[in-house]
Amino acid sequence: MTDKQAVRRVALVVTAIATVGFAIVALVWVPWQPVAGGAPPAVAPESVFTPLEVRRGEDYASWARLWSLSSLAISLAVASALGFSRWGARVMARLPGPWWVQVVLGVALIGLAGRLATLPCSVMLQRHRLAGGLSNQPWADYARDLVVGEAIAAMGTSLVLLALIGVARRWARAWPAMAAFVVGALVVLTSFVYPVVVEPLNNDFVPLEQGELRSAILTLADQEEVHVDNVLVADASRRTTSLNAYVSGFGATRRVVVYDTLVESLSQDEALSVVAHELAHAAHDDVVIGTSLAALGCAAGVGLLGLVLTRRGRGPSMADPGVVPLVLALALWATLVASPLQNGTSRQIETRADVDALTATGESAAFVEMQRTLALRSLADPTPPAWLHWWWGSHPTTLERVAIARSLSGQK
Ligand SMILES: [Zn+2]
Repeated sequence: MTDKQAVRRVALVVTAIATVGFAIVALVWVPWQPVAGGAPPAVAPESVFTPLEVRRGEDYASWARLWSLSSLAISLAVASALGFSRWGARVMARLPGPWWVQVVLGVALIGLAGRLATLPCSVMLQRHRLAGGLSNQPWADYARDLVVGEAIAAMGTSLVLLALIGVARRWARAWPAMAAFVVGALVVLTSFVYPVVVEPLNNDFVPLEQGELRSAILTLADQEEVHVDNVLVADASRRTTSLNAYVSGFGATRRVVVYDTLVESLSQDEALSVVAHELAHAAHDDVVIGTSLAALGCAAGVGLLGLVLTRRGRGPSMADPGVVPLVLALALWATLVASPLQNGTSRQIETRADVDALTATGESAAFVEMQRTLALRSLADPTPPAWLHWWWGSHPTTLERVAIARSLSGQK
């Protein structure tokens, strides 16, 4: 048996095991029927928004969509041009240094090419956000965020590719199995390390002062059976106008974090609705479900990569840095194709958190008012095109969420 045949066999086994594992987790732990009796159809937009509010949301969303989808199309075109032709491999062959330097340089160059090609779309989108009042960031700060974001993305991508190629150089035949394990482990590590390491870099936290809100949050946590050690306020208003809350940490160090923007711009009942939703995620260990699915999905992706590479007649081997442009192009397409699956499971999990929040607070009016406020602040389109929502919607739409609240409270 040649190395190539052996890799192909291992890749097939890896793909099969990861896919079956993914299917089991998805079938057993994703709530496929989060609303008893089925989710009700979305309510009519005019029962929640004024005609002017609907029109503003639609106007904003149509341009935002244009710039985002154009950016995606350009990214795919650039990645495909470099990955599926000889151009990318030619560039890689000219890079200096040992293999690992070539990998890092190649990732940085390809990332930069994509970034520059999509820059006009990003700038137009930011102008649109400024005009709509969704951002008040000065252009210098925006530019710095772009550069920092690109650098972090390049480092993360380099790390994954160094691991993949390093493993393939060490285990010529078994690399798909070893690489699937390493990539899965990286997903798990990132998911649990990110909130503990990165959030504190961006924000300062102070304990929420003793008072009605704090005691109400602790009562809710009791009710949803989530042990909470502390309630903290993050000074998010320094960077964003968005309203958010989350639960982080494990066991004895678990805490509820609310953005200062949430405390300041929502009524107490509305803020509690948001917190109740986040506590529901914690109660069901939704981060564990999401992380398991992501890790198994990525492991299956590595298996498929092994199958694709061993099919191509004269393609590069995984041990060769010249494979970088092809892997990046395949990863981008795979992410796009997997989006409906990822967002479909996410919408089920989010719906369950809404149902639990509504049950715990019993405040459907506050929930509806909160959904209305969030939608108006983000200038959300109340009725996005169905295919767009199916493909990219990570949460039910505002009108679907309002429908759940009204049906649970017996209102029509
Ligand atoms: Zn959620």
